Parts: sequence; structure tokens; C-alpha cells
Amino acid sequence: MKLTTTLISLSLLASMASAGNAFAAVTNIPSQKIFEAGSQPSIKGSGDFFTGNVRIDPLFPSNDSAHFSGGQVTFEPGARSAWHIHPTGQHLIVTSGIGWTQEWGGPVVEIHAGDVVWCPPKIKHWHGATPTTAMTHIALTGVQDGKNVEWMEKVSDEQYRK
Ligand code: MN
Repeated sequence: MKLTTTLISLSLLASMASAGNAFAAVTNIPSQKIFEAGSQPSIKGSGDFFTGNVRIDPLFPSNDSAHFSGGQVTFEPGARSAWHIHPTGQHLIVTSGIGWTQEWGGPVVEIHAGDVVWCPPKIKHWHGATPTTAMTHIALTGVQDGKNVEWMEKVSDEQYRK
């Protein structure tokens, strides 16, 4: 008798669980998504937009409610981005090494692991390693109309000095 009751309870629980899944499927309730380590191949930074050796490791794309993408970018010594702007701005979290960044018309500024940089919308700038030390940052970049960057000219060797 006791065993029968338990079996009925278990079967009730099972049907409730499957009804819950069906409800989620019908109403399209989102659930957490894991971007598993190693599931997104590294990308070599294009020579059109970068000088030197740059590796980009994608983290996540923007979505319907969070309008920014994330990526980890590693610059070998001497490597840097081209000049560019971001339509809705960009946060950089420096995770290792020492790098340089510069706004158009401003001084070259040194940035270190642990520093966080906010670059406002439409401010022309570049970021990269120093000539002698590699730098890695996580970039959180606002996306507008499917775009998160507008590329401009390369940073010349004359500009790349402190
Ligand atoms: Mn930038």
C-alpha cells in the first residue's frame, strides 16, 4: 500500500515536470545559456584592422535585451588596433600585461592589468600592447544596428610612441 502511494506520487511528479517543460516550450521562457570553454575558436586579428599579432577569443554576442558583445583580445608586444570608434561606447577590462591607449588628439596612456577603461560613443581611439610587453583585455562593446565598431586608418609607427 505504502509502495503504491509512493509510485503514484512519483508518477504525478513526473507528469507535473513534463507539463512544466511543455509550458516553457509554448511560452518560450528563456533559460540560462553556457558558452562552454573551447566551443568558440580563436580568431586572428585581421591585418586590415590591426598591426602586429592579435588574437581574438569571442566570449558572447549581443542579444535582444543586452545590447553589447564580449570578447577577449590579446596583443603581442608592438601590436595595436587601428584607429576606430564605437557607436555606443566600449568598456575594456585589462586582464594581463601592460598596454597603451590613446584618444585622437590626446596623449598615449599606459594601462595595466586590473584597469578598466570606458570609451564613450564616437570617440576616435586605439588600444594595444606596449612595444615590449603583451596586453590582454576583455572588451564589452555596445552594438547598434548590428555594428559595434567603425574602423579607420592604422596607427603609424610615429603615432605609436610615448
Ligand atoms: Mn575600442
